Amino acid sequence: MYDNDNVFAKILRGQIPCKEVYSDDTVLAFYDVAPRAKVHVLVIPRGEYTDIFDFTQNAPADFQIAFWKGVRKTVETLGVRDNFRTVANTGRGSGQSVMHFHVHIMSDDRFREEF
Ligand code: AMP
Repeated sequence: MYDNDNVFAKILRGQIPCKEVYSDDTVLAFYDVAPRAKVHVLVIPRGEYTDIFDFTQNAPADFQIAFWKGVRKTVETLGVRDNFRTVANTGRGSGQSVMHFHVHIMSDDRFREEF
């Protein structure tokens, strides 16, 4: 069940500020307030979906495609095409703390040494 009072819903309504990276009709991308990588950005859809299960089950197909294009645009805007990770925490067990579907985009020099 989607909660309209979650922090990302408030950001979408302009009730809480964010440091915007990329925006279009489908997505908003902004810097994570508590970065865990040199570059740490969140991409969220402009729609009421709690997580990746809800999103892939219930969002129209063209909206889902537009979302992933927005992720791509965000990566291009950040200039991290050659070194980034996407993470979509799902469910409380994963540590998902905001129940509005979001994709983390993280880029850091140390990623190269980790694998
Ligand atoms: P998750 O743990 O996957 O649900 O990710 C939620 C993310 O949202 C965390 O990395 C938080 O640091 C981030 N976050 C929470 N509130 C804000 C906010 N007001 N602006 C930007 N990022 C936020």
